[in-house]
Amino acid sequence: MGGRLLINGRIWEGDTPAEWKDGILSLPLSVVAERLGARMQRTGCTDLVQVEKDGRELALSLGQQTAFVQGERVPAGGAIYVNKDMIMVPAALISRYFGLSWRYVEDINAVVLNRTEPALKDRLIALDAGHGGEETGAISGDLVESELNWDVVQRLACILTLSGAEVQYTRGYGETMSLPQRVNLVMEAEAELLVSIHHNSFLSAEINGTETYWYHSWSAHQLADCIQNHLLEELRTTNRGIREAAFFLLRHSFAVPVLIKVGFLTGSHDSTILADRWTREKAALGIFRGIREYIEGRTRQL
Ligand SMILES: [Zn+2]
Repeated sequence: MGGRLLINGRIWEGDTPAEWKDGILSLPLSVVAERLGARMQRTGCTDLVQVEKDGRELALSLGQQTAFVQGERVPAGGAIYVNKDMIMVPAALISRYFGLSWRYVEDINAVVLNRTEPALKDRLIALDAGHGGEETGAISGDLVESELNWDVVQRLACILTLSGAEVQYTRGYGETMSLPQRVNLVMEAEAELLVSIHHNSFLSAEINGTETYWYHSWSAHQLADCIQNHLLEELRTTNRGIREAAFFLLRHSFAVPVLIKVGFLTGSHDSTILADRWTREKAALGIFRGIREYIEGRTRQL
């Protein structure tokens, strides 16, 4: 059984998937190496492979169960083999060598891999699932806004934590929480950013698209801009722009806040794609990249 690969916030579109064999997850080495900017070469009698990244060297040979990191023998955690011309290496070895964390996301059959991002490490980000519990938000056909919001929040939390960030939720699943309660939670936790996830609705099915809201501060404007750009790149939805609005959560938060409306539950185009879990995973990827770009930009300025 194979699974798709999401590496450092991007989907890998190639056709060699991650593979489970005897309970061991293996990944195509060259894909991970390329994504992480490592050099890779096959040497000598072609059964030997060397990877170099930041002055650290990984050497391995096909068919073996061991590898060498900086010349020291380490267990590979499973067999090293070839599939469709790709060298497949146990995820445990790849994670250890590249400093990656990974999680298998079962409902989309994908492996999410992220390296610890220095800019994100130990930064506290509050995630707000707009609506929950007694308050469902918009409903259209089978789509319930609170459920979609929660789903995107969960996927985003997974990617952020794999990257070394810390996450503070404003509510648990199905929990009814007022806006002041949620704002207080963010404040007490001293989160740096607040990302609130919503979905939109309208009377006409012709209205589709993605919006990101900010209020008052230049920082929030920048964060909204980064997120909107990456969301559009990932979802390919209509760009309804970044907008300033005095929503309660945006007005009363001490963290840098944004409120995202991923798409229209009522839209003829958006409702079709939002029903697909992959769209929600892609939304999480786009938002993650937006947050990363914003924080990296801030770090460079300081
Ligand atoms: Zn909403």
